[in-house]
Amino acid sequence: QKFVYSFTEGNKDLKDLLGGKGANLAEMTNLGLPVPPGFTITTEACKVFLETGSEPASLHEEISAHLDALEQEMGKKLGQADNPLLVSVRSGAKFSMPGMMDTVLNIGLSDASVVGLAAQSGNERFAWDSYRRLVQMFGKTVLGVEGELFEEALDEAKRAKGTANDLDLDAADLKTLVEVFKGIVERETGRAFPQDPREQMDLAVHAVFHSWNGDRARLYRRQERIPNDLGTAVNVCTMVFGNLGEDSGTGVAFTRDPSTGAVGVYGDYLSNAQGEDVVAGIRNTLQLSELEKLDKKSYDELMAIMQKLENHYRDLCDIEFTIERGKLWMLQTRVGKRTAAAAFRIAVQLVDQGLIDLDEALMRVTGGQLAQLMFPRFAPTGESQQIAWGLAASPGAAIGKVVFDSYTAVKWSRSGEKVILVRRETNPDDLDGMIAAEGILTSRGGKTSHAAVVARGMGKTCVCGAEELEVDTKSRKFTTADGLVVHEGDVVSIDGATGKVYLGEVPVLPSPVVEYFEGTLHAGADVQGGLVQAVHRLMSHADGRRRLAVRANADNAEDGGRARRYGAQGIGLCRTEHMFLGEERRKEVEHLILADNDKDREQALSTLLPLQKSDFLELFQAMDGLPVTVRLLDPPLHEFLPDITELSVRVALAEARKDPNENDLRLLQAVHKLHEQNPMLGLRGVRLGLVIPGLFGMQVRAIAEAAAERKLAGGDPRPEVMIPLVGTVQELELVRDECERVLAEVATSTGVQLDIKLGTMIELPRAAVTAGQIAEAAEFFSFGTNDLTQTVWGFSRDDVEASFFTAYLEKGIFGVSPFETIDRDGVGSLVKHAVEAGRATRPDLKLGVCGEHGGDPDSVHFFHEVGLDYVSCSPFRIPVARLEAGRAAI
Ligand code: PEP
Ligand code: MG
Repeated sequence: QKFVYSFTEGNKDLKDLLGGKGANLAEMTNLGLPVPPGFTITTEACKVFLETGSEPASLHEEISAHLDALEQEMGKKLGQADNPLLVSVRSGAKFSMPGMMDTVLNIGLSDASVVGLAAQSGNERFAWDSYRRLVQMFGKTVLGVEGELFEEALDEAKRAKGTANDLDLDAADLKTLVEVFKGIVERETGRAFPQDPREQMDLAVHAVFHSWNGDRARLYRRQERIPNDLGTAVNVCTMVFGNLGEDSGTGVAFTRDPSTGAVGVYGDYLSNAQGEDVVAGIRNTLQLSELEKLDKKSYDELMAIMQKLENHYRDLCDIEFTIERGKLWMLQTRVGKRTAAAAFRIAVQLVDQGLIDLDEALMRVTGGQLAQLMFPRFAPTGESQQIAWGLAASPGAAIGKVVFDSYTAVKWSRSGEKVILVRRETNPDDLDGMIAAEGILTSRGGKTSHAAVVARGMGKTCVCGAEELEVDTKSRKFTTADGLVVHEGDVVSIDGATGKVYLGEVPVLPSPVVEYFEGTLHAGADVQGGLVQAVHRLMSHADGRRRLAVRANADNAEDGGRARRYGAQGIGLCRTEHMFLGEERRKEVEHLILADNDKDREQALSTLLPLQKSDFLELFQAMDGLPVTVRLLDPPLHEFLPDITELSVRVALAEARKDPNENDLRLLQAVHKLHEQNPMLGLRGVRLGLVIPGLFGMQVRAIAEAAAERKLAGGDPRPEVMIPLVGTVQELELVRDECERVLAEVATSTGVQLDIKLGTMIELPRAAVTAGQIAEAAEFFSFGTNDLTQTVWGFSRDDVEASFFTAYLEKGIFGVSPFETIDRDGVGSLVKHAVEAGRATRPDLKLGVCGEHGGDPDSVHFFHEVGLDYVSCSPFRIPVARLEAGRAAI
């Protein structure tokens, strides 16, 4: 097995093996771009190392062979005393994990070769500074020395010199500092800083392997749903230096604006600096366009390369580059992360440029991104007090209480507070807090700083580089340019689309994308540089492509109307229990429950009938011409009764007053009778219909009479009747008989012929397993994946997410809650079986899903694959489901 690839051997499609960085370095090398030579150690080697604790037997030899070749090419040897070759050792996994794993620069420097580097570069200060950085970085990341110790020693050196600036330390100071650093390493680790360059390299490679399992990396993977077993590749690359003087520098650039998608290159440049300085946001950077003035030749070359890369990858690319004494080097490229708005705009731009077709454009956007575009935005009023203006790094409108550290962010958000994490700059240790926060505000760093890159990746609102803010994390406050002091716990609003920061809570407006779906904004409207047009075009394409129909879960005319505007093709779940709320109706349900004879019961039912009927009339009118699946009453009846404790107290008090209330006493008896230890598995759904005479019949009558009335009025009502929580075909047959009888009666009494389908939900394991039998009595199935997940896993859907799911997610038992994304292997395989068995019995059986999963992007793909006819979800998720159903069909 081959574990090492020269940059000349790989290509961009080998990301599994070479990681993203390694694969793209190889691709650039093969495109003839100026990449410093080097090689990549594969993810396979990492996996062996992590599994067995040592590197594969042949790895040492293989690295030697590649190192020899590299030394020959460069005409110098690693760590050679008079003319050293220096290398960087960088992590690079299949999926980019910005700043989450380790990197060591300047490998090859030693007491001997530092002198060589000084001679070679003609810059003694630079050489000692590079050595100082190596001992520090190596000490911290490879040998595990507390980073603070080096920082303190550096501060001490500056204090001794009477300066606050690193640049005031001269070669002699740095030379002394190197000795101090080496002393720290020896004291803390019990061994001297290794002088053998190959040993440095091997240890750095191992450290990078290990960093795959570091806390930060694990947390990031969980957040981004990246599998844990991929391992990282390691790139060994010839060092080039951006810190050799004013004719050197380093930068990060995008071939289009990653936050808006606007056409035109975009980036940050820092002269006389080394790679990580830009991303770390340590100094404020120049805009890329400034480089043209500083070094036109390099700038022009860079522009040509960026164009070439974009045409080659047919997508937005981001790059890292370094200029060493006027010579441009490409250090990295990849298809760049972008905001949701940029993703839509760029996909459509590339179609118009003829680089990709609409299918591919559709595959480049996601339902998750569309959902982000539907978030509201700020609408500041005269009252809104703007306190700062930073860079719009990641869009969104976030409001929350200010916190200054990750720990507090997590703690407060766990107790239900919305927080804004405020830092001077963020680093990978802030990741927990960034995840917990609504938004992130920093006072330093550009749009490519850590905060900005990570926030964009997570879809979090971020304003960065708000320089006028004085952030004092120790005293937990920040001060604005006007001297206003904002303390921990004060509320601020940050606008990631404009970069503006406000004190207090700013009102929000719907997003233009929502206005477009609502029909209040025309598809051709010129907002956000064509964002709405881009959404419109991709939505239309998705609609043309998808096989799945999309329906809504809605139980009133208002929601139904919205769903329709958003593109719903009917209602897949109308939960009738919502029609029994409100004091008047609840009282009637109470009467129904308390009725101990037919007369009282019929009285209660006949009061409920017209109320139900009027609800259906409105709903059928709103959904005229589209199917409306009405589900008969599902929840246990005690939900409509007063709380047992409150009622007991009331009865006890009345008795104490010697004034007992007859009705309350009967009610209490009924409550006791209906009380269940586990109501979710109790008297609900079809069981209610079988036990409470006339209940389902009344509902079916209301549906049929409403439909008949609509029809007589010239409408086109299309109700379907759905029975919940069926476990066996016998239950369904009994209810079916009653329904058919009522439907026939209504047909006779109204003289209107109605074709109302009767079907069932499949939401119990037994129903799924015996779906072949159940289909005998059902004209359609709708999978109730909420209850199905609950009963297949034995997880109480109302309790688990608040109790132990966090622990399960942390332990990686599942990457995402099975109530959110369908569990394909368990719940999904039952769905698949039921689809096949149901269709075997009844080939024209209609199949849909109405659990929460119907609007979840990943689950929509699953439902497409198993051949359902439609998904049904809440009105706001309809566009997401349409988009994903289209993507699933490609
Ligand atoms: C379900 O169980 O998936 C379902 C849609 O029904 P409900 O959520 O109302 O129980
Ligand atoms: Mg259910």
